[in-house]
Amino acid sequence: MPLHYQDCTFRYGRRTRPVLNGLDLEFAPGHTVLLGPNGAGKSTLLSLGAGALRPGSGRVGVGPLSASTRRDTRIYRRKVAWLPQRPGFLPGLTAREHVAYIGWLKGMRERDAWAAAPAAIDRIGLADKLNDRIKTLSGGQQQRVAIAGALVHEAELLLLDEPTVGLDPHQRRRFLDLLVSLRGTMHVIVSTHDIGDLDQAFDQVVVFESGRARFQGPVSLFDSYAAPDCAPGRRLESAYASLLEAAE
Ligand code: ADP
Repeated sequence: MPLHYQDCTFRYGRRTRPVLNGLDLEFAPGHTVLLGPNGAGKSTLLSLGAGALRPGSGRVGVGPLSASTRRDTRIYRRKVAWLPQRPGFLPGLTAREHVAYIGWLKGMRERDAWAAAPAAIDRIGLADKLNDRIKTLSGGQQQRVAIAGALVHEAELLLLDEPTVGLDPHQRRRFLDLLVSLRGTMHVIVSTHDIGDLDQAFDQVVVFESGRARFQGPVSLFDSYAAPDCAPGRRLESAYASLLEAAE
């Protein structure tokens, strides 16, 4: 169920320049990393994909479902999970209470959400923190609890906006391992500036710049844009730099 944008235009105010102008883009199934400079429109793209923003014209959808058609809203919300840059938590909730609450917000019955929360928290490796208050958890653990919220309502597509900001290298590694463990469970689109070793966690790359996809394809094709003399650990950074230079 890839996320797609058809002839999609979006602007933040009537007098502002459109961030997206007649965009046609279809994400491939699997795990996609969305790269691009600040201001390229990545957050806007994901917010539209989540149905949190509506396009001025055109269509945003997942399979046959439209993000902004009232008839599809309930099922769309259930199938698509979105974590903005700083996911909010209600103060004082435990990990289980938060995850059950997200399930309920996404349309599950209260008791079903409560019953399903422990398994979702177990999946993200925090079974021992089930009844801990979220504010006592580390930033990386909070990030994972937020992902458990998406697992509890069995979302089919997870949109993550800059999830590794503020994580230390160990937390970042655990986060990437978690993404790898979600392969086959859900499709994932992650926007990030943090290119490093992303080839292990992602199948596809989209480089977005000035409201357009400058590159879209498998990680192996993206890698082929790296400078021939670049160090082995720097290939993806090199590929990204060459693609952006080519677009200038
Ligand atoms: P990215 O995530 O790639 O950094 P964004 O989608 O956040 O890009 O921003 C794309 C453009 O939209 C930028 O020019 C940004 O200044 C503008 N923008 C983003 N959010 C708002 C907003 N709430 N109001 C007005 N302009 C915005």
